[in-house]
Amino acid sequence: MSAVVRSLNIVHLYPELLNLYGDGGNIITLTKRLEWRGLGACVAEVAISDTPTFADADIVFIGGGSDREQAIVCEHLLERRAELSSFVEDGGVLLAVCGGYQLLGHSYAMGDDVLEGLGLVDMETRRGAPRLIGNVAVESPVSPQPVVGYENHGGRTTLGEGVEPLGRVVFGHGNDGESGEEGCLYRNVLGTYVHGPLLPKNPGVADWLLSRALDRRCGDGSLDPLDDAVELAANKVMVDRLLSGEEKE
Ligand code: GLN
Repeated sequence: MSAVVRSLNIVHLYPELLNLYGDGGNIITLTKRLEWRGLGACVAEVAISDTPTFADADIVFIGGGSDREQAIVCEHLLERRAELSSFVEDGGVLLAVCGGYQLLGHSYAMGDDVLEGLGLVDMETRRGAPRLIGNVAVESPVSPQPVVGYENHGGRTTLGEGVEPLGRVVFGHGNDGESGEEGCLYRNVLGTYVHGPLLPKNPGVADWLLSRALDRRCGDGSLDPLDDAVELAANKVMVDRLLSGEEKE
């Protein structure tokens, strides 16, 4: 009798519009880390001309984009808000980066223009000046190493009471440049300003997402260890550079 292969369905929303700073690399990392363990991955790319469905999804990914692209995407996604909200409340795994992260909240205010958000997480964003740009490192409960990457956003995000940040900023700006908080964690939703892309240099974050999705899908979130020597070396180069004071904030 052959063993059942655990497999995940990954939905990549609007890669043609939301794909800044290599965000699509997050999808490659998720699929490779499944494949390397002999697990299955099926990726569905959703274009703006498609109607997304989340009924059979395990992991949904939304990348970052300019304010203009965010507005296009948000209008489209608002029509699917109820379905996406059910997915989140049912423990579906959702990774959202920067522009995608901002859309998770109640609103994104750009001066007098206020974009209504998806309201999946109790948070809101307003555009401020200057833009918050540069390398970033974050200490987070979801990763044994500091989470490293790159941020470039005008938005300042404020989390509601009871919404946990992804972690504490140890280099860079994070949610608003002041609170010391970066990103959000809500159920199995991970929102963050970290591009880079996020997952290749932060394997702990990738495995956190995979483990939760596998647990929800098959009741078994266990993951065989991988040889992450290359990934961890890449992470360490940035941690050492940022925390040694070699690079100025
Ligand atoms: N448009 C958003 C901002 O500037 C998000 C940018 C991004 O995704 N890098 O705040």
